[in-house]
Amino acid sequence: MHRRKFNKTILTSLGAIGISHSLLGIKPLSPKNKKLGIALVGLGNYATKQLGPALLETSLCELKAIVTGSASKIPQWKKKYGLSDNQVYNYENFDTIINNPEVDIVYVVLPNNMHKEYTLRAFRANKHVICEKPLALNAIEANEMIEASRLAGRELYVGYRLHYEPHHQEVIRLCRKKTFGRIKHFEGGFGFHIRNSNQWRLKKQYGGGALMDVGIYVIQGARYTIGEEPISVTAREYKTDNIKFKEVDELIVWQMEFPSGAIASCTTSLAASTNHLYVAAEKGFIRLSPSYTYGKISGYTRKYAFDFQQVNQQALHMDGISNHLITGIPHLNTGGDEGLRDMKVIDAIFKSASANGKKVVI
Ligand code: NAD
Repeated sequence: MHRRKFNKTILTSLGAIGISHSLLGIKPLSPKNKKLGIALVGLGNYATKQLGPALLETSLCELKAIVTGSASKIPQWKKKYGLSDNQVYNYENFDTIINNPEVDIVYVVLPNNMHKEYTLRAFRANKHVICEKPLALNAIEANEMIEASRLAGRELYVGYRLHYEPHHQEVIRLCRKKTFGRIKHFEGGFGFHIRNSNQWRLKKQYGGGALMDVGIYVIQGARYTIGEEPISVTAREYKTDNIKFKEVDELIVWQMEFPSGAIASCTTSLAASTNHLYVAAEKGFIRLSPSYTYGKISGYTRKYAFDFQQVNQQALHMDGISNHLITGIPHLNTGGDEGLRDMKVIDAIFKSASANGKKVVI
């Protein structure tokens, strides 16, 4: 499709979230289909500020239960989302959710070391699962989660919201079409300055550290722009604050080689702010900056600036998944297998960084 026409289509279509569903092949529910019910497990920052509010904007799913260990959070959630006592669970009685037919999908929004346990428990309760990123602590765990999904006959998805964001969708489209020729180099970084020193993100046992928290977006970006799987990695880890980052990585820089010869140069940090994606191809380039936020994303190519509107990424993502479950129309590459691919790369990056940058073949 001609670029201007495509942009116009996107712009007019993304004006309202309901309309943008048509772009994803999402149709309104037929009278015989009810909205799917979602249970949020863990009512921390992301669930409270992003996912809960997004579930007020979704067309195909809605909040039907919460799972929390904090009694003080319950009244405000009940009030805001119209939940009753029998829709509130804690971590001990969570497994009884098997008896709740209103809940189709369990959304795990817990610290990274708890992803596997709650995903497996949700499968035992016969629910589909959306698990936040990173899928697990490593590829071994990710494989176990995929196997549990297979055995339960239930779907596993990852919280990769950017596949439903129009800038990223357009960058992927341009890369797949080779609009600017073969990709030679990807450059990307995602980092922020973490202030709270008591955060689980600074603790090893919780699966903390920059790479697991935000570096994973850069791995994703490189993989879905280049459109290949990396074959090797070299990585180095640096610290400027040995006390705060005693247990986890503060800053990692790494390079990935791809089968076509394309190279990705990547950075992640929990001490310095960076947020960009740059694709250099034979006949042009694409840049997004900021790139990975759920706020406003902007970018341009060698020839023109993107003018897509901001969307509710989380709402589109959860509706895309619900659409897959209801109609079988494919979701946009946010399955457990995609989460596993990133865990394999993460394992290789840690291995290389702990060997002072020795090349690790994936
Ligand atoms: P958070 O610390 O704000 O919330 C974590 C929640 O887990 C809290 O409600 C906490 O009470 C609960 N919890 C239960 N048991 C716990 C324990 N033993 N120790 C610590 N907390 C415990 O974290 P968050 O920022 O909401 O992140 C949660 C998950 O969501 C992480 O996996 C993170 O990577 C992911 N996340 C994803 C995005 C995204 O854009 N996709 C954004 C932010 C966070």
